[in-house]
Amino acid sequence: MERTFFWFIEEVGELAEALRKGDRESMEEEFADVLAWLASLANLVDIDLEEAAKKKYPGVCPYCGKKPCECEED
Ligand SMILES: [Mg+2]
Ligand SMILES: [Zn+2]
Repeated sequence: MERTFFWFIEEVGELAEALRKGDRESMEEEFADVLAWLASLANLVDIDLEEAAKKKYPGVCPYCGKKPCECEED
């Protein structure tokens, strides 16, 4: 589990670098890597990632409760 978390953080670091460089192809790859390791981590602790996401974000904005979101943008 610790090793998987380490790889997840490693990929978050790679995503940070891709975002900083603005390289779209790298960003796409690193988003996929981060998602893959996040899913792997959830599996290891027996959490259904999709279910958890839908439970917390059931299709409406968690802040204003509207869909589409009506929060003011700064
Ligand atoms: Mg990567
Ligand atoms: Zn909102």
